[in-house]
Formats: sequence, structure tokens, C-alpha cells
Amino acid sequence: MHNQFVFEPAPQPVLEISNSDKLFPVHRIYCVGRNYADHAIEMGHDPNREPPFFFQKNPDSLLKSGQDFPYPSATNDVHFEMELVVAMGKGGVNIAVEAALDHVFGYAVGLDMTRRDLQGEAKKLGRPWEVGKAFEASAPCSQIVPASAIGHPAKGAIWLTVNGIERQRGDLDQLIWNIPETIAYLSTLFSLQAGDLIFTGTPAGVGAIHRGDEMVGGVDGIAEIHVKVV
Ligand code: MN
Repeated sequence: MHNQFVFEPAPQPVLEISNSDKLFPVHRIYCVGRNYADHAIEMGHDPNREPPFFFQKNPDSLLKSGQDFPYPSATNDVHFEMELVVAMGKGGVNIAVEAALDHVFGYAVGLDMTRRDLQGEAKKLGRPWEVGKAFEASAPCSQIVPASAIGHPAKGAIWLTVNGIERQRGDLDQLIWNIPETIAYLSTLFSLQAGDLIFTGTPAGVGAIHRGDEMVGGVDGIAEIHVKVV
């Protein structure tokens, strides 16, 4: 019988749900690259509607709002990217755009923290992005607000301040690939599951943070996130 672990399994990554004592068990974290035109332009790319592309972070890289973000190793250029996060309540493959929102449990706001120097080097050398994107604590995320409470937002300001100074501002209606389209496209590449999170991309204004900085961001009508860099 194979029924015992050789060591204690890692705990199930979870997010809290607003106004609930239940937890959301996180399965995978998908992220969309360059999904706002003004951010694509600031990164030196074509803002036209190319097919979306994706990368992943590890579920155990989640950091709760209010927790400190430990400045990571091997970098001198860590950037914030403020993003709307979609929390899937149902999975599927080849999900139709029209049916996509029925698969959403709720929404959160998150930070796609990025070692920009290592990501830049990887891009230049045609290497994978993990060292730039998937390090420990690279995915700070707020509580999830259920769609049953707020519906499915298609617009609303997305913003971030660092030490009280506004650094990013956009609106969900500027997404190049909107939420249903993103879910539909992603489900042609992966078998989506309940518990998956999708970081949907960041508006312009990304920049470096330093130890001691306090980041506060949000999407109006959904949630806010507070993270201090240590
Ligand atoms: Mn991002």
C-alpha cells in the first residue's frame, strides 16, 4: 500500500473570500502578458491586437495583502505590475467566449512582481521567464470578491500608488483581450480548473520598488491591496 507521504506535503495555497469564512483553494496561476496597449508601448512592443500570450507563477508564491514583500535575491530592478485577477470557479477546455463568465467565481486585485533585469535578459536570450516572474512572494493578491456580490466588471479604474504617489492608472475597459476572451483563449491551451487564478495584465506606469516602499493599489468596485517592501 502506498498511502503515506515520506514528508509532510506543502500546505494548499489559499485566498480569503470577502465577507465569508470560507477559503478559495488555488490551483494554478496564469498571467497574461502585455494586455493594455499603453503598457505594450512602454515596453517597446506593438500595441495592436496580437494573440494573447501567457506565463505562470507558482501558487505558493502568493502573498496576502497586508503581508511584507521580501525584496528578492539576484536582482537590482524589481518592478510592480498592478493587475485585475480572475478567480475561476469552474474549469473546462475550449470554453466559448459567451460562456466564459459562467466559469468565474470572483475577482481580486494582485501585483505581478517582476525581476525586470532577469526578465529582460531572458527575453534577449530567448530563455524562459520563470526567474523573472515566478520567484517567492511574486504574486501578492487581495481577498477574492465573489461575482455573486459584484457581478462581472467590464470597466473600472485600476491604479497603484507607491508611498502615496500615483504610479499607475488605467481602466478595465482598456484591456486588449477582455476577461471572457482571455478565459476562452487560455482554455484552448490548458485544461482550466476551479481554483485557477488569471492575472490579466497591467496598464502603463510600471516601475521599480525599493526596500521600505509602500504599495497600495486597487480596482474600483473590487478590492484594494497593501504591500510593504522589506
Ligand atoms: Mn503582468
